[in-house]
Amino acid sequence: MYLASDNNPTGIIDKHFRVKCPHCATVSGLSAISIPRFELLRRYQPKTIGIAYQCDACRQTIFLRFPVTYDFGNARVFIDENFTEIERPKEEYEFNYLPEIVSDDFKEALTCYSHSCFNAFAAMCRRTIQSASAELGAEGTSKVVHQIEDLKAMSEIDDDTFQILKTIVIAGHDGAHPHLPTLSPERAEVLLELMKDVLYQLFVRKKKIQEANEKRKAVIQQKKDSQ
Ligand SMILES: [Zn+2]
Repeated sequence: MYLASDNNPTGIIDKHFRVKCPHCATVSGLSAISIPRFELLRRYQPKTIGIAYQCDACRQTIFLRFPVTYDFGNARVFIDENFTEIERPKEEYEFNYLPEIVSDDFKEALTCYSHSCFNAFAAMCRRTIQSASAELGAEGTSKVVHQIEDLKAMSEIDDDTFQILKTIVIAGHDGAHPHLPTLSPERAEVLLELMKDVLYQLFVRKKKIQEANEKRKAVIQQKKDSQ
């Protein structure tokens, strides 16, 4: 889409994007409500621009950022439709089933993800895995690696993506590694699902089974007491 020197918004208004709304969490259509003006773009020539949209479901405002290129010969600005969401829905997790240190790290990872800071998200995933390994004791790291390999066998993650994710979360143990592979939004999404699954298998599942056992014991005890 493009913005011409007459600031006619039709091309932008007619383009309907859909995203998962950060306010109401529905996958909803967006309507453009605030568009930059051509003369200001010509003056400052930013590399990216922001357009404000309204969520068609809840009417809250959603901001998208677009790369732009300038064609002053034809008096227009091309807007690349490959947008970035400035704010994403907050990801939820069953944090109360995680050890506190793992929970704190993973919460921070999800905050980075919700703000589209994917490399920060990757670094926090790595830290979460390190905390998880430490919590699991001597066998921690091999348990984590085993769990990740298991998930690879069951899922449809392609080899390239898997290698990158594996490098991010388990290669080396030197904190925030300066040479981690950079992460695209698509791969960040795969990493998010992988992290949720790994933490589920390592902590959540076991605790839920324990909880169920305790409940069952309590019910049996109650029955005995009432006899
Ligand atoms: Zn909404």
